[in-house]
Amino acid sequence: MKKLLTLSLLALAAGTACADYPEKPITIVVPFSAGGPTDKVARDLAEALRKPLNATLVIENVGGAGGTLGATKVAKAAPDGYTLLLHHIGMATSPALYRNMQYKTLEDFEYLGLVNEVPMTLIGRSTLPANTYAELAKWMDANKGKINLGNAGLGSASHLCGLLFQSTIKLDMTTVPYKGTGPAMTDLLGGQIDLMCDQTTNTTQQIEGGKVKAYGVTSAKRLTAPALAKLPTLDESGLKGFSVGIWHGVYAPKGTPKVVQDKISAALKVALKDADFQKRQEALGAVIVTDARTNGAEHKKFVEAEIAKWGPIIKAAGQYAD
Ligand code: ASP
Repeated sequence: MKKLLTLSLLALAAGTACADYPEKPITIVVPFSAGGPTDKVARDLAEALRKPLNATLVIENVGGAGGTLGATKVAKAAPDGYTLLLHHIGMATSPALYRNMQYKTLEDFEYLGLVNEVPMTLIGRSTLPANTYAELAKWMDANKGKINLGNAGLGSASHLCGLLFQSTIKLDMTTVPYKGTGPAMTDLLGGQIDLMCDQTTNTTQQIEGGKVKAYGVTSAKRLTAPALAKLPTLDESGLKGFSVGIWHGVYAPKGTPKVVQDKISAALKVALKDADFQKRQEALGAVIVTDARTNGAEHKKFVEAEIAKWGPIIKAAGQYAD
């Protein structure tokens, strides 16, 4: 009887604590380096979540191993709503790539909702002689065996896009992995690497400023953001059917109380309608999600479908890591 009473008091205390959530700053773990596209989405989202959650949100960059290090950190964090993960398509591609992942994608997280969809761009260092995709194709042909392609590690979006690119044009390049495409961009600007595929959220300003050469977008249609509207699709440039789309979602450790999950999901829906957030994202070529996938359960179904879609493609490419 006494034990029962203690348990109910504990449950009551936990319930009250949840009802007061959030009472301290919330950390959003970004599984890539600062200054990259996932980091940019996270920082803009943190700003848009500040009011609806009535809390301070802090970004922690835990880059490396294609996003799996940061995701592991969140999977193992206390399920109290104070440590969240903002991840991208790597959430769905890592299971096929990593043999010894320290977490289970579908079992170790609470799915809180999808945020946006972001196309990628194929870009090159500004000193490359090629200005169009046709000229790049000639340059690649003349430089076989000498081309460096940056990426954010196995399972990252840049890795997937690069894989698809190399298999489409039937040319192997030397891939150079970073902890995120933030530092990869620094090296591309410095001319240490030749090419990279990266989300428009990271490349739009560099393309606009003429700091990198842009050879095409990975979406099926041309984009409408002013800085990107003139850029042809890679499909148009001759890479028939080439299409890669990245998305970002928000996750909490498994076991996070339902009331806390509901508070975060509700705040997320408010943030997605925030005019400033929408404007900033649209200018960078990102499309804010407005459909049912903004709900946790629908987002989880979407990730399951992405795992089923990418698994065979990755396995066929024979790529994996321990
Ligand atoms: N764009 C990176 C990737 O290739 C991730 C990042 O740095 O945000 O997955």
